[in-house]
Amino acid sequence: MTDGTTWTGEVTKRLRCCICGEDTVGDEDYVLLRLTAAPGAATQWLGAHAAHLNAVLADGFEVEIHLM
Ligand SMILES: [Zn+2]
Repeated sequence: MTDGTTWTGEVTKRLRCCICGEDTVGDEDYVLLRLTAAPGAATQWLGAHAAHLNAVLADGFEVEIHLM
C-alpha cells in the first residue's frame, strides 16, 4: 500500500530534498522531478518538498499535492 507518506514514484526510495537537503522520508508533500537534456537520453531524478520547490519556482508556477 502506497500513500502520500511512502510514495517513491519512479525510483525505489525517497530522495533528499534538492532544495533544503533534508530527508523526505514520511513527508506528505514529497515530489519527484525528472530532468532530461537534449541530445542525450540520460535521466536524472530529483526529490523535493513541494513547499520548498514552490519557494523557488517562478511567479505563476505552483506545485500542489492532492492526497486521495
Ligand atoms: Zn526541502
